[in-house]
Amino acid sequence: MLNPVTNHREFFGAPGAVVIAGLLPLTVVFFHLIVNENYSIQGLDLDLNRIADQIPKSWSQFAHLAFDPVCWKAYAAWFFGLAVVHTFGPGKDVNGTVLRDGTQLTYRINGPFIVSTLWVLLAARFFSANYSVPELQFLYDNTGKLIWVTIISGFLLSFAVYGMSFVPLRTPNGFNTRDRILSENGNSGNKVYDWFIGRELNPRIGPWDIKAFCELRPGMLLLFFLNLSCIQNQWTKQGRVSNSLVLVNVFQAVYIFDAVLGEEASLSMPDIAHDGFGFMLAFGDLAWLPWTYSLQARYLAIEGNSVDLSWPALVLIVALNVFGSYIYRASNKQKADFKAGRLDHMKSISTPSGSKLLADGWWAVSQHINYLGDWFIAWSWCLPTGFQTPVTYFYVLYLATLLVHRQTRDDTKCSAKYGEAWAQYKKQVPFKIVPFVY
Ligand code: NDP
Repeated sequence: MLNPVTNHREFFGAPGAVVIAGLLPLTVVFFHLIVNENYSIQGLDLDLNRIADQIPKSWSQFAHLAFDPVCWKAYAAWFFGLAVVHTFGPGKDVNGTVLRDGTQLTYRINGPFIVSTLWVLLAARFFSANYSVPELQFLYDNTGKLIWVTIISGFLLSFAVYGMSFVPLRTPNGFNTRDRILSENGNSGNKVYDWFIGRELNPRIGPWDIKAFCELRPGMLLLFFLNLSCIQNQWTKQGRVSNSLVLVNVFQAVYIFDAVLGEEASLSMPDIAHDGFGFMLAFGDLAWLPWTYSLQARYLAIEGNSVDLSWPALVLIVALNVFGSYIYRASNKQKADFKAGRLDHMKSISTPSGSKLLADGWWAVSQHINYLGDWFIAWSWCLPTGFQTPVTYFYVLYLATLLVHRQTRDDTKCSAKYGEAWAQYKKQVPFKIVPFVY
């Protein structure tokens, strides 16, 4: 069957979808209200008057904030410029997973091209503008406005792809019909829920794959530039750059470029292979990721919040990052190598689908040891902010919640896909993420 009906609902169905779609944007805005140049939270003490002072009091004040023409033009240039390069820039074409109609989509892989182009442009701008990048200061100075641009863009994109999911295909699918392939999760028939979770599996306009593009381009690369803009701001206003801010920048840049340069691996991740593209991913990719992940750098860039780490603290945080990165990369690589048939000597469990489950090496330590590595990395991104406020540890808490949710989702998926073999794997490897704890 091309498009089975979705009976299972996550996030408490449509009511949950409405609440989350309201709460997530408010969270992004709230973080900006409590961490910005005019007011920055200390400890947990919220100065409600100073927060209220920043909230628009009329439609025209709100429009001034959310519909700034310069910010919209800059973001449109960023988004569509990247889309063109992503779709047509030099690279190689790779086939994705086999779809329900027996076909495979082709994806343009050109991470190295986009990364090298951005670095060349950045360096050229830096030297031509007298060792500064004015566009980075523009980013920093317009954070409040750009947050709204990305939030609204996330909503617009999610409505667009939901609408598109009802438009018949121009060329027939593998079943020789014009139906689009819908996601297993997003075909419930409830409009709100399907819009939220993502109705169509792989929305495309011509060769432009919107989901693969959003996953690793406009938000992920924006995060890199947001972090850099914090360095630019600290340098311009304080004439120095703190080691803590450099550390956050370097750690996140390594993570970002590792993901973008290794984008081929993302084609088999649940987000691309399994999930529909709806509000969750559109908003998550465009707004949530760049603004919440950059919270630490934005906090450190503010005068008065600056942290100068001692050498022992610096060494410990770097060690934690290296340790987490090692677990993260080694375990992900081991699974990829195993799936590619390069580790056939390792202990494994055969499944009815023909593929095997690795029950050895990292994958015998816990069912998702890669998540633990990721979580250690998260700590190393937050610890440079010191212990001035728990707000800068939001990412650690958020990632823990996301990874536990991903693990339960993956458990359901693998139980359905692998049946008894998955049960056997879980018996052999009882810990889900953290050995001896969970
Ligand atoms: P996993 O890498 O754990 O992949 C799960 C899938 O791998 C399963 O669905 C199954 O897919 C396969 N699999 C699971 N166990 C085995 C096994 N023992 N042997 C062989 N195959 C197995 O999870 P994700 O794709 O969710 O995450 C990938 C990485 O991305 C992680 O390191 C995660 O931390 C990171 N990540 C980071 C986020 C962030 O915001 N920082 C967000 C999301 C992910 P199949 O059906 O193909 O067999």
